[in-house]
Amino acid sequence: MPQTPHSVFTHASEAAATLRANGRINAALWRPSPNFGARPAASQVSLIVVHCISLPPGQFGGPEIEDFFCNRLDIKAHPYFQAIAKMTVSAHLLIRRDGTLIQFVSLLDRAWHAGRSRFCGQDECNDFSIGIELEGSDDVPYTKGQYQALSAVCQQIMAAWPKIGVDEITGHSDIAPGRKTDPGPAFDWSQLHQSLAKPTKDSL
Ligand SMILES: [Zn+2]
Repeated sequence: MPQTPHSVFTHASEAAATLRANGRINAALWRPSPNFGARPAASQVSLIVVHCISLPPGQFGGPEIEDFFCNRLDIKAHPYFQAIAKMTVSAHLLIRRDGTLIQFVSLLDRAWHAGRSRFCGQDECNDFSIGIELEGSDDVPYTKGQYQALSAVCQQIMAAWPKIGVDEITGHSDIAPGRKTDPGPAFDWSQLHQSLAKPTKDSL
């Protein structure tokens, strides 16, 4: 039997309340990273930061990003890894090339993805943002599966934290200009914005 609008609404608001309570995206694989802390008591989740990463740079598909965020990267596996071996970083979420979603840090906690950064006059974006990494490079087109997964997860986050609108989804390069370039010119912001303007479909 088709759901009535009322039950659809109830389902959506329950899902948003659950996400606000447990910070976990249902469809994501859970790969807990030790690289996180508590958000400052006064800060509220109010921003999504889109990034890209590939390890080794320009190569896709291996386990190295997960290993890096979980402090178990084999530094002997590639010369580049020595330069990043001592970094302790993370993101809340990673979207792989095939759209697979991996979560490293609860959305309620503070992941270490943005570094020195500023959004609308507020410094330290890690305090109040959710960091989403796309497996990719600045100049390589992202996949359809990545846009679909990103749109779906943004819709869930926006439902749980209504302060976040389309204008509160930004790139790392926008909050750390001159220092960071990701997600780069290959990222199609209009595609993301168009998908967010459509009515919400089934959530993940
Ligand atoms: Zn970044």
